[in-house]
Amino acid sequence: MKFIACETEYAAANIVLFGAPYDKTASNRKGARLAPAAMRLESQQIETYSPYVDRDLEDLRICDVGDLDLVEAEPFDVVDIISKWVNIMLSDEKLPIMLGGEHLVTLGAVQAAFEKFPDLCVIHLDAHTDLRDEYPDGEKLSHATVIKRCHDFLGNGRIFQFGIRSGTREEFEWAKSHTHLQRFDFAGFDKVVTKLGGKPIYFTLDIDVLDPSELCGTGTPEAGGVSFTALRELIEKLGKLNIVAADIVELAPQLDASGASTSLACKVLRELLLSVGG
Ligand code: MN
Ligand code: MN
Repeated sequence: MKFIACETEYAAANIVLFGAPYDKTASNRKGARLAPAAMRLESQQIETYSPYVDRDLEDLRICDVGDLDLVEAEPFDVVDIISKWVNIMLSDEKLPIMLGGEHLVTLGAVQAAFEKFPDLCVIHLDAHTDLRDEYPDGEKLSHATVIKRCHDFLGNGRIFQFGIRSGTREEFEWAKSHTHLQRFDFAGFDKVVTKLGGKPIYFTLDIDVLDPSELCGTGTPEAGGVSFTALRELIEKLGKLNIVAADIVELAPQLDASGASTSLACKVLRELLLSVGG
C-alpha cells in the first residue's frame, strides 16, 4: 500500500516518499517502527485536497517507494543505509521525504543532504533538544543525540530549533552558542525564514513537538506543546524556503488506540507535501 495519491512512478516523480521503520534506540516507549505502515493505511481515510492552501495531492508527482529494511540493524548501519539511499534520490534530482522511525534516522538523511549541499541548514521542530553527546552513556548514536551528531559536521549557526521544552541544563546552555534554539513555541520563525532565504534546508519534524492533548501517540510525550494549527501555519511557510529533504519522525501509532494521532500525522504529511512539492 502507498500513501494516498503518491502513485507516480519514480522516474516521473519530483518527490520520493520512503519509510525508515526503526526504533531500536528509543529510550522510553518503542513503536515508531510501525509508523510508516500505519500512516499509509490511515492515509486512505483523509482527503487529498487541502482547504487550508487550496491544493490537492493529486496534482503533485510523488512516488512512495516503500520502506527501507532496517528493523533489526544496528544504529551505525541504519544511518549508513539511509544516507546511501538519500544520496541516490538527491543525485536523481528528487526531494526525499522520510517517514520515521525514531529520530536517529534523521542523521543519515542529513549526512546525505550535506554531501550534496555543503551550505545546508537544518530546521528542527521537537519537544526535546536532542543535543546530548551520548545517550545512554557511551552511545553516540541515539534519538537523543541526533541533532548533536548533525552539529558535528554542520557546525555553528546552521541548526534552527523550535518548540523545545525538554532537555538538560547543559544542553540548553550548549545551544546558546551553537544553535538557534527557540523554547516552547515557534516565535521568531518568520525572521529565520527571511535569514535563510534560498539556502538549502533540511526540515526535520519530531511529531512530539505537538501537545499530547492533540497527539499522544509518541514515545516521549511532553506537556506544553504547540497546536496542529500552529504547526500547519509553519509548514505552509516552508514553501518560501528551499527545502531539499525532510522527515516526520517519532509517531508511535499503537500508543494511541483511537488512531487519532496517526490521522493527525497523515494530515501533517499532506500539508508538508503540498508545501514543498508545488
Ligand atoms: Mn522529541
Ligand atoms: Mn527528537
